[in-house]
Amino acid sequence: MKPIYDPGAGAAFWAAIEKLPGYPSGEHMPIPIILFESNAVYKLPDVMTQAKAQRDKPLLVVMDKTPMVRQGKYLKQLVMEILSKAGWQIQSIFLEPDGTGQVHTDMPHIEVVKKMIQPGASLLAVGSGTVCDITKHAAYLYEKETGSAPSFVAFQTANSVSAFTSNMAPTFVDGVKRTLPSRYPNALVCDLETLADAPYDMTVAGVGDLLAAFVSFPDWYLAHELGMDPAYSEFAQLLMGPLDEVFLDSAKKIHDRSPEGMAILAKLIALGGLAMSLSHATTPMSGYEHVISHVLDMLAETEARPLAQHGTQVALATLLAADAYQHFLNEFDPLEVNLDSCYPKPASMEKLILNTFGTIDPSGGAGRECWADYRLKLDLWNENRPRFESLRQDWPSVRAHLSSLTRTPEQLLEILRAIDAPLNFDQIVPPVSEVQIRFAFMNAPLMRRRLTLGDLLLFSNWDRDRLWQQIWARSQTLAKA
Ligand SMILES: [Zn+2]
Repeated sequence: MKPIYDPGAGAAFWAAIEKLPGYPSGEHMPIPIILFESNAVYKLPDVMTQAKAQRDKPLLVVMDKTPMVRQGKYLKQLVMEILSKAGWQIQSIFLEPDGTGQVHTDMPHIEVVKKMIQPGASLLAVGSGTVCDITKHAAYLYEKETGSAPSFVAFQTANSVSAFTSNMAPTFVDGVKRTLPSRYPNALVCDLETLADAPYDMTVAGVGDLLAAFVSFPDWYLAHELGMDPAYSEFAQLLMGPLDEVFLDSAKKIHDRSPEGMAILAKLIALGGLAMSLSHATTPMSGYEHVISHVLDMLAETEARPLAQHGTQVALATLLAADAYQHFLNEFDPLEVNLDSCYPKPASMEKLILNTFGTIDPSGGAGRECWADYRLKLDLWNENRPRFESLRQDWPSVRAHLSSLTRTPEQLLEILRAIDAPLNFDQIVPPVSEVQIRFAFMNAPLMRRRLTLGDLLLFSNWDRDRLWQQIWARSQTLAKA
């Protein structure tokens, strides 16, 4: 079983998805060249030319310092050999890790790349999501400053995150992870041998990041029903297709790292990036589970701990949020809710947010950043009170639709088990403690403007302490089952 829409099919792919409801008008083939092929690495010189890079101008090859091996050869050396043999003038940029030993997407790294761009130069990112995001955003900012857009090609070295087809860049701003508007690559190259030889934990993370859909789809629909997001469309759901069925069917091929398995996963990941970019928001693939993960990243960043594999952390947060959905769908009765108590005063929320994030960033910067974003949500929530009131009548149909968009933790665990993924927070690197994950689960709603199930639980005065105990205990039992 393959994805319904094949982003490797060129013009036919774009023509097919342009017909889906919710496809933005006027955006014709935003990434004209996308390859998922065996030995695609050898096509890089041609792809650079097709992407309108100029061979008489410098080609900046952006990488981190992680050694990568492809079929027994060093990948980065191979890429540079292939390009220089074809006459490209390479300038390599190696991004420096920070104190945690990792490279993170932040303004200092983006500046390093941006400063190296000369008129006419083109860019090739050889790496995973972070390297791609840094390069992409440097190219974007350069264009904003100079008015000329450098040609930018992404060579994806792992099936890890959906950065490669995204026109957004998740970036640390004042210690808080924010998604900034950015740009598409002119071409994406997925070399199946490179993807097969990537560390398997990155492949597992790529699956995990997409499982978020089973929380983010219902979250987006919920926000739409409550009047909190007028931009809602079903485009992302239609584009992704029966994601869980494709995963279950392809799990062995992904686990065996067969060329077919690598291509299917790379295509799903590409679709995930496009689902967000063409919806002009990360909302379709980033709900409560991603905010939980962002808070965990924030905790790690302030404690100078390395970040866990994004998608794996997201998958585990998805299990918790999906279980919260099960409780919500089974127990929520809008007729029992005291509406007047669902609209907290701004001053009390401001205090709560400053206090909460002050515990991890005593400078107060993170708290102020979160409150600035949160208050927009609180205002909108107040304005849309009639929508919450009308949920009283509409609940049976809204409930049924939410239920069709989510999955039980057992169903999601079946996919994670089939690909031999971590099933619990103590199995990821570095491990996350219950105290940290509880903090993230409880406080994620306070972090940003987007409404998720986490917000509705908070606004409706759900007994979240009890809920936490229930879902944490269940997650521990299920992981061991
Ligand atoms: Zn993600």
